[in-house]
Amino acid sequence: MCDQAMKELPPGVRPHVPRRPLWLCRACADVWPCPTARLKLKAVYGDDRAGLCVLLCGLLYEAIEDLHRLNPRTGPSPQGLFDRLVGWAAPRSHVD
Ligand SMILES: [Zn+2]
Repeated sequence: MCDQAMKELPPGVRPHVPRRPLWLCRACADVWPCPTARLKLKAVYGDDRAGLCVLLCGLLYEAIEDLHRLNPRTGPSPQGLFDRLVGWAAPRSHVD
């Protein structure tokens, strides 16, 4: 679903999808999800933040596997990866 949403671009425009197993953006080489990918994902999912988070949690699992296989000793922290892949999209809780 993510790949499909990210590929709806005019011909010649590179989609901002992850280059695995590095998890860098294929279009701009920023860490994925780059700002453009985040905007696109938010646009595709709209108010369905739960659906977006489910997708991102699946990708988080895959990213942890890939990145720790590449760097077993110095892989990214679980908290850092969560913030990068899921935290930006999580619904904000309201405090009254
Ligand atoms: Zn990008």
